[in-house]
Amino acid sequence: MLTYKIFYGIITAAWMLIRKIYFKRYAITHKEALKNTNPVREIQLVKLVRWSITLSSAIWLFTPWLNFAQLNITAILRIAGIHIGAASAILFYYVHEVLSDNWSPILQIRQQHELITDGPYKLLRHPMYTAMLLWVIANFLISSNWMVGAVQLLSVIILLVVRLPEEERMMEEAFPQRYKLYKLKTYRLVPYIY
Ligand code: SAH
Repeated sequence: MLTYKIFYGIITAAWMLIRKIYFKRYAITHKEALKNTNPVREIQLVKLVRWSITLSSAIWLFTPWLNFAQLNITAILRIAGIHIGAASAILFYYVHEVLSDNWSPILQIRQQHELITDGPYKLLRHPMYTAMLLWVIANFLISSNWMVGAVQLLSVIILLVVRLPEEERMMEEAFPQRYKLYKLKTYRLVPYIY
């Protein structure tokens, strides 16, 4: 159990560190955005995901309160979870690098916004959200705890259901022809499937 907790902790720390670095960069480079889409709701969504993941992780890592939800997931799957979690953190970092100054924590068109269609964006329109999904799936497998899995997956699904259509509408408004074409050539979250 302790080994799984250590790996879970390392992957969580990596995600938090990556987010912190790019948030700091965003705060420095952030001038007035050209367009904010539903900022109050967006901030609530970000808080929902952040607190669901932070609290469920901290409770599972440091208290016995979620022991009732412990499952018997086999070691092979839990070790696969560690690999998926590591891959998700690498993808999260890589996507941030590729998006660069076009990234924002809430839905925004920034000044001098560029449409990125390179790297992971060649195949997927939302690779950062793919990384998030991989991360919470990894957390479920590593922890082998259905409460951790349910709380985290639900919060990311709520984020995606509310945000995805709106984000695509916003991008299409900002880049009318190019985003329409780009949509035809790419998938949303899962290569060749969705
Ligand atoms: N949905 C993307 C990006 C998440 S960050 C992903 O999952 O990888 C959210 C911000 O990224 C949005 O406010 C939007 O302004 C910006 N964005 C989304 N797709 C983009 C693209 N292809 N090029 C440039 N910026 C993009």
